[in-house]
Amino acid sequence: MNEQFLSELRGQIPSDRIYTDELRTLGWGTDASFYRQIPQVVVRSDNEREISFIVKTCRKYQLPFTFRAAGTSLSGQSCTDSVLIVAGKHWERYEIGSQQDTIRLQPGIVGARVNEILKPYGRVFPPDPASIGSAMVGGIVCNNASGMNCGVHANSDRMMVSARIILTDGTILDTGDEKSREDFRRTHPEFVKKIEDLRDKVRSDKELAARIQQKYSIKNVTGLNLRPLIAYDDPFDIIAHSMVGSEGTLAFLSEVTMKTLHDYQYKASAMVYFLTMKESCQAVVAMKKLKAGEEDLQMSGENLMVKSAEMLDYMSLNSVDDPVFLQYKKDVDAGKIEGAEPGDYHNLTAILTETKGITHEQLLEKISKIKECLGQFRLYQPAEFTEDPAVYGKYWAIRSGIFPSVGGTRPIGTSCLIEDVAFPIESLPEATVRLQKLIADHGYADACIYGHAFEGNYHFILNQSFKTKSEVDRYADMMRDVAKLVVEEYDGSLKAEHGTGRNMAPFVRYEWRDKAYEAMKELKAIFDPDGLLNQGVIFNDDPECFIKCLKPLPVLDFDFSQVPDGGHYLMDPSLSTAQETIEQVKRANKCIECGFCEVNCMSCGLTLSSRMRIAVQREIHDLEATGRDPERAERLRKQYKYYGDQTCATDGLCATSCPMKINTGELTHLIRQIDMNHTPTGYKIGEFAANHMAGIKEGLRVVLDVAHLGHVTLGPTLMTHVCRTMNKMGMPLWTTAMPKKKRQPKKSDLTQFIIHSIEVDGEKKEVSDRRPKVVYFPSCINQTMGLSKEAPVKHALVDEVIQLMAKAGYEVIFPEGMERMCCGQIWESKGMLDIADRKSAELEAALWKASEQGRYPVLCAQSPCLHRMRKVMHKMHLYEPAEFIMKYLRDRLDFHPTDKHIALHLTCSTRLMGVDKDMIALARLCSTNVFLPEGIGCCGFAGDRGFTFPEMNRYALRKLRPQIEANKIEVGYSNSRTCEIGLEANTGIPYMSIVYLVNLCTTAKK
Ligand SMILES: Cc1cc2nc3c(=O)[nH]c(=O)nc-3n(C[C@H](O)[C@H](O)[C@H](O)COP(=O)(O)OP(=O)(O)OC[C@H]3O[C@@H](n4cnc5c(N)ncnc54)[C@H](O)[C@@H]3O)c2cc1C
Ligand code: SF4
Ligand code: SF4
Repeated sequence: MNEQFLSELRGQIPSDRIYTDELRTLGWGTDASFYRQIPQVVVRSDNEREISFIVKTCRKYQLPFTFRAAGTSLSGQSCTDSVLIVAGKHWERYEIGSQQDTIRLQPGIVGARVNEILKPYGRVFPPDPASIGSAMVGGIVCNNASGMNCGVHANSDRMMVSARIILTDGTILDTGDEKSREDFRRTHPEFVKKIEDLRDKVRSDKELAARIQQKYSIKNVTGLNLRPLIAYDDPFDIIAHSMVGSEGTLAFLSEVTMKTLHDYQYKASAMVYFLTMKESCQAVVAMKKLKAGEEDLQMSGENLMVKSAEMLDYMSLNSVDDPVFLQYKKDVDAGKIEGAEPGDYHNLTAILTETKGITHEQLLEKISKIKECLGQFRLYQPAEFTEDPAVYGKYWAIRSGIFPSVGGTRPIGTSCLIEDVAFPIESLPEATVRLQKLIADHGYADACIYGHAFEGNYHFILNQSFKTKSEVDRYADMMRDVAKLVVEEYDGSLKAEHGTGRNMAPFVRYEWRDKAYEAMKELKAIFDPDGLLNQGVIFNDDPECFIKCLKPLPVLDFDFSQVPDGGHYLMDPSLSTAQETIEQVKRANKCIECGFCEVNCMSCGLTLSSRMRIAVQREIHDLEATGRDPERAERLRKQYKYYGDQTCATDGLCATSCPMKINTGELTHLIRQIDMNHTPTGYKIGEFAANHMAGIKEGLRVVLDVAHLGHVTLGPTLMTHVCRTMNKMGMPLWTTAMPKKKRQPKKSDLTQFIIHSIEVDGEKKEVSDRRPKVVYFPSCINQTMGLSKEAPVKHALVDEVIQLMAKAGYEVIFPEGMERMCCGQIWESKGMLDIADRKSAELEAALWKASEQGRYPVLCAQSPCLHRMRKVMHKMHLYEPAEFIMKYLRDRLDFHPTDKHIALHLTCSTRLMGVDKDMIALARLCSTNVFLPEGIGCCGFAGDRGFTFPEMNRYALRKLRPQIEANKIEVGYSNSRTCEIGLEANTGIPYMSIVYLVNLCTTAKK
């Protein structure tokens, strides 16, 4: 990379946001497509000033550059081998219009988040790609992404009001701002004139204008967006709307104002099964003719009765084991289906149909009309609409499950490709059948076709290997034939949603023909005269570029024999941690590098994300397997230590948004375990600690005592300074949030709070001595750590739990030998998986005894520990405090909610166990002002990692303090002491267990 360019960059942008090393350029360069391009430099931009500077500097040195939002693009439009400019996190500001009918958005805000923001107003953000949970506004608009509902009537082009853009000369133009337009007219008269000339030229060619009109009557994202040239007169509207679908080839989108639409209150769906594919498509055509009234137009921008119709071919139904399809197969084999030979199931096709109503009456009327329409076709079973979200949720889950099912069962080392074409709706019955046959004829027997039939837009998923030339040729031949079918036979779209990228670039002229293609090139030249923006995307002279730079997907072939299995200590050895870890690592081979995990990955932006970890590991394994470049392998391995391993919180939140359910934290556990084998001292220390838990806990109490003494004598400022210096030398970091020690509970603790009588209507009543029992394992953390010096209450959690239980009339039983016990979490997180299981097994035996073989519920007040216990102990009923209180104590307590503002932190384990709803509900019983901060996932404390890598904690909680301060919150609650330490350190307010809140806001039931 040009050193002078880099040095100019470093003069303006902090170097911790400029990456040129092998590891981070590979990691950040990976997108969801099947193309591999490694950028020479990655710059993570923060604001307009920086973008303006970067693009000008790229232009000065004539360096091609590519923008990136979430990197979920499938066609190779968000990767580059030159300069990659990332504008994702940090670009998340928004402003809702006064009537809520518009919203102004920065490009880094995730689509699903926009819908969350609009939900209280009954509004939605119309573009709805399936990737909306991860895709960001910049990528959604610049890909003109769409999904099941928005069709062409509510895509970004139709919904855009104005755009704020940065051109290659660094100029900022806001088309929604009169002054900015005026300035631009003055400074760039040539630019504006060229746009006007192109507009006039296109319009004066009636044939071309008509073709553009017709092409955009169905979904189309092949090439640049030409519709603005015929749809808008104002050159600034043309400029703004040209950004839609421009795939980063024209300018940087720094803000966009979009219309919002109303959400419908009443919805119903039906999975309708047709006896042939052709009839299913005929039904779709017929349903599209059912028109609703004007009020629908106001609500959603179109007036159709059916809001979506998703087609699922028989392979799609097969891939998700659809129960009706399984029955159909039986009927076919039994000769009960007319015209179908036993063993031939290819005819059954489902259309998942959805309708919506402004009122319930309107919904019922629509259902009745749709059913009447469907009556003309041969159905496998009668069409039944359901309004029950639980039932229709299952239908939509079937639809959403196709892609992960197919991707998850593909042979390791193959790519999972999703192609994306559209036909004019009238040709659907014939075109769909032909497409199905064409794909099968090319030997893709396991390909599924499914998608938005209502828009004539289908996806087909292929499991494709690119390892041999013949496999690459087979793919290329099939794509050329698909292009022929779509373009020549039906004049359809080769890309309807996913963008042209490198994948369809050689076919743009073929689809659009010469005149339209030349207009696209002229438009590009106006914006980007040097051709630097996203080179090779949309415009590419290499007819073979779609089969070049293909991404290798090497196998992660770890030596699993190095992983000692401690599962046999457990009551159920099949729950072994080592086995679970190995299974997860094998599953990581199914990773499609879609990046859906990045929204939940706390380290994404600090170091690597879950996707990047897998991509880098793949590269290391490939280098090792092929012996290609041993030095590079070594360099990557070394760098991975901090960026990949040490800064992974192993919280597993990545799995929650991964379509393949891959938990990259388990990959980290495995790598730590394997590393541990090379450093036996670490293992010996682990062994020692496991065998001397009681002593370790006591030792920790002494350390906390000393630290507390230091805090009292040195004062917080000096103590913080001393400890920061020690942290730089590798010592764990002390903060003012550090807890005091907690002494071990004594027998008297259990009796001193017991209530013998309560007052009811002024009268004392005896409390029965046959109180229900609960086994309470406070966790090692809560046995040793109390609250911080600044906490408003002084006694430790164990005492608080005992008090609360007593108040609710519960008897507490501690497991025998609790001092020596641990759930094993600490060893699991360090990769000592066998010791982890051994410790769990000891605890399991003690709890089993204390609970009288599972008769009494077991409570653990530390959510990450409970999460581990639940993974390896299945025989007892194990509870976290909020869940336990909601289930057992709620009716035994009177709640007196405070109106004090309180913050709630939902830990990763709370979310993973699905206890978050209980936490929120309980907090709301206790306070009328519960604050749930936005955009806070894992706190980054990661067990004890927050002490040694405090930057993780700081980064993960960077958005919290401003929210706490803005909302004037004075106290926060959670259910993990370690997370609370980090939360307190990074917000400046005390955080403690939710048990304190409940105890504060309740009295014994009268
Ligand atoms: C499993 C899966 C399912 C998908 N389903 C759909 C679907 O249903 N419909 C659909 O349309 N797509 C779908 N996609 C493709 C993709 O997710 C979407 O197109 C998405 O909108 C891309 O958003 P992004 O934030 O990831 O953008 P990126 O991939 O980061 O960028 C997209 C393009 O926009 C450009 N860009 C990004 N930000 C800017 C900016 N600020 N200024 C200028 N240019 C910019 C980039 O250079 C790139 O060309 C799917 C992808 C996957 C992996
Ligand atoms: S881990 Fe899952 S979510 Fe992340 S990139 Fe891989 S497949 Fe996608
Ligand atoms: S475990 Fe956490 S930090 Fe590690 S990759 Fe997954 S989400 Fe990221």
